[in-house]
Amino acid sequence: MKIAEIHIYSHDLPVRNGPYTMANSEIWSLDTTLVKLVSNNGLFGWGETCPLGTTYAEAHATGARAALSTIAPGLIGLEALPLTLHRQMDTMLSGHHYAKAALDIALFDLLGKHTGASVSSLLGGAPGNRIPSYFATGIGTPEDTARLAADKFSEGYPRLQLKVGGRAVEIDIEVIRKVWEAIGHKGARLAIDANRGWTTQDALRVSRECQNIPFVMEQPCRSIEELQRIRPLINHALYMDENSVDLNTVISAAGNGLVDGFGMKLTRIGGLQRMMTFRDICQARQLPHTCDDAWGGDIIAAACTHIGATVTPGLLEGVWLAESYIDGHYDNRNGIRVVDGHIECPTGPGLGIIPDESRFGDAIASF
Ligand SMILES: [Mg+2]
Repeated sequence: MKIAEIHIYSHDLPVRNGPYTMANSEIWSLDTTLVKLVSNNGLFGWGETCPLGTTYAEAHATGARAALSTIAPGLIGLEALPLTLHRQMDTMLSGHHYAKAALDIALFDLLGKHTGASVSSLLGGAPGNRIPSYFATGIGTPEDTARLAADKFSEGYPRLQLKVGGRAVEIDIEVIRKVWEAIGHKGARLAIDANRGWTTQDALRVSRECQNIPFVMEQPCRSIEELQRIRPLINHALYMDENSVDLNTVISAAGNGLVDGFGMKLTRIGGLQRMMTFRDICQARQLPHTCDDAWGGDIIAAACTHIGATVTPGLLEGVWLAESYIDGHYDNRNGIRVVDGHIECPTGPGLGIIPDESRFGDAIASF
């Protein structure tokens, strides 16, 4: 089976009940990019990439489409196999993992449709179909965040991620304490995510003043050097998210014991093929991690759920979806939903969803 056509679409995803808030940023609407791969036997697969605004990562929506338009002509006629795809993409463009990820996801969807296997089967097989999610609270007051965290925990989310940073660190400390008072005794797992918004002294202070509250400190500071500086001085597990930009960084961080786990984004690492390698590195060092993406609709949600389903359950920190911030689905029947804090992994061929492509309008480029 060979790649015969590639079509690229852009689509607007407004944030429901916006904005979505993180340290130093507010997001009202996202510009997602969709890719349809058509094979020479008439099958097709879908991929997606949706950078979270312009400051979350070194990724840009129109940049994704420019990168895809650079790569796409060189893929026509190529054997539809993941490593073949990645080798060819890398000969044409360095980096730009978040753009290449859309083609990688589309290829796995296509292969699944061709073989009748789900993407999670192609990724090695899933031990179960009900995947835990986690809820991210956004930046809020201590009282509002505690109330929201308690609601979401009783809804069934086993893990809560509290967004902090971008304000006086005293308020962040109060948020953590209030949430712990509300749900700590009930067995909730907490991640405190500053999205690089704390200085090293903020991180040290939070860890010192909350030392009896067990939480994971996720990407507190901007750089790897800052994480190295706080690592021996904090009382909490340290996870890397935004800094884990490629497999080389992951190998170093896992190998030298810089971190206790990762928040991992599917498109940042370069798609499902790279994510399998990441998963196996983490398994070798018993490092827990998430499988999610910064944003995106049903296609990204399905891809994250399929890879998440293949992670050894004790090491999966959950699959986060943007679903609760998006109105509607690309596939009304099989769209990916969080119910009671968990996600059913689709069992149909490929990603298990068929987007209604009339929602995306005309392709902005076709090859
Ligand atoms: Mg994070």
